[in-house]
Amino acid sequence: MTEKIFDYMSNYGYEKILLFQNEDVGLRAVLAIHSTVLGPAAGGCRFWTYASDLDAMEDAMRLARGMTYKYAAAGVNLGGGKVVVIGDPKRKDREMLFRALGRFINKLRGEYLTGEDVGTTLQDMDYMRMETPYVITLSKASGGAGPIGGATAFGVLQAMKACAEETWGAGANLQGRKIVVQGLGAVGYPMVEYLVKEGAAVTIADIDAQKVAQVKNDFGVNAMDVRDIFSADADIYCPCALGGVVNDETLEQFRVKIICGSANNQLRAEKHGDALQQRGILYAPDYIANAGGTVFDTDRLWGGVNVERGMNKVSKIYERMKQVIDISKSQNIPTYLAADHIAEERIAQARAIKRIGGYNQSAPLTL
Ligand code: NAD
Repeated sequence: MTEKIFDYMSNYGYEKILLFQNEDVGLRAVLAIHSTVLGPAAGGCRFWTYASDLDAMEDAMRLARGMTYKYAAAGVNLGGGKVVVIGDPKRKDREMLFRALGRFINKLRGEYLTGEDVGTTLQDMDYMRMETPYVITLSKASGGAGPIGGATAFGVLQAMKACAEETWGAGANLQGRKIVVQGLGAVGYPMVEYLVKEGAAVTIADIDAQKVAQVKNDFGVNAMDVRDIFSADADIYCPCALGGVVNDETLEQFRVKIICGSANNQLRAEKHGDALQQRGILYAPDYIANAGGTVFDTDRLWGGVNVERGMNKVSKIYERMKQVIDISKSQNIPTYLAADHIAEERIAQARAIKRIGGYNQSAPLTL
């Protein structure tokens, strides 16, 4: 896409790309705004070391488009955007870096709302909040919802329950089901907790031995070597670590009936989603299953932090997953495409009123 950026933008419906620079604090950042059809563009701020500036731009663009689809499919009135900061995510002096970025974001007057992502912390968000109100993810101390991994895990659980009913019949639950959870971080840990409460037979795997020992100790579950995850004799594989886990090598190994987890970009390529359908493995599209955190987090735009209302919205992921399954079956298409259809249909519907102009301006102003 690099030589033909404008063609790529028009093919995939991008609105704008902005480059922010401040030499004094070493800020170099790319903001991609994919869509503001449903509302202000929202999406986290990633801090990462990129091989080139174009790689950073490509990452921002890909992630921004993903956010458009995630919000649209979840029925949240927000568009998609993402900012990436180029640099060492372990950098120590962060205050002025993120305050500088906050100032740039503030100039957009709410067209883009930022939040936490890979390489950034709630502390970084609090720094940006010193310069702009357009920050969604904030610590509880700063008036935000705090960490969102638990809400994401709760959403994954909803999607998993919908998949279990489809696979084992109406009323089926997760009791006694053999479930492998890969990754025991912000999402994986509460995921194990939820699944144990459901009575599932959970096996865990993580590259971090300390985390494995901790989770084994906390929940009394079994552990397995990360190399055995894909061929595990289990009912459900729950990826909560990195993306790209469904690929040419792993496809042949899966013995599970369902793949449902929080990891972003689980399919290495779309053809792997097609292959899962052919193999009769039910795949919960990542952005459907993992929307819980963002749904919970952005809920406060509509009237402040309210845990009950926020989690109630997250629980709707169950119905959304059922809808995805229905479309997939009725149109005989893979679930990842069915999810895209739901998102694209909602955006197409909202486009009709976009011509009137002025999306819900009160949303960012209530921050
Ligand atoms: P995290 O960094 O807190 O945890 C990831 C865990 O995965 C770590 O414990 C790490 O040691 C482990 N890990 C890394 N590589 C592994 C491997 N090959 N095998 C086994 N374990 C491995 O991340 P997180 O916030 O829990 O997010 C997990 C995934 O879910 C990511 O893909 C993230 O993008 C996605 N996601 C997270 C949220 C959220 O609310 N945090 C929301 C949506 C999507």
